[in-house]
Amino acid sequence: MGAPQTPDAGSPRPARAGLLNVRNVALASIAVALAVMGIKYVAYLVTGSVALYSDALESIVNVLTAIAAFVAIRVGEKPADANHPFGHHKAEYLSAVLEGALIIVAGVAVIVFGGAEAEPLVEPLA
Ligand SMILES: [Zn+2]
Repeated sequence: MGAPQTPDAGSPRPARAGLLNVRNVALASIAVALAVMGIKYVAYLVTGSVALYSDALESIVNVLTAIAAFVAIRVGEKPADANHPFGHHKAEYLSAVLEGALIIVAGVAVIVFGGAEAEPLVEPLA
């Protein structure tokens, strides 16, 4: 309102109505990521498996990135304004960059902390 009419490069995809619109899918992926993380963590508690533990930790990334994707989609749907005359859909690229960075962080964390808990594969000689 009051903003000058500016060119909007448009959304990269057409809006879709109904259950399968992108916002609902993003919400569902948050729920699925939470459920998977919970299942892996319970499986770790039951089995004591370090592999399941590191997998559960990595699932935190899936939850965070699913939330980031949902936020980015909401921001991306906003119409062009004075500060962003070409629209906001590039917010989704930031979400993709965040996901890549978090995957790297998770990988390093699994190597550092998972390795510390692992039994040595070979017994020391002496
Ligand atoms: Zn804006």
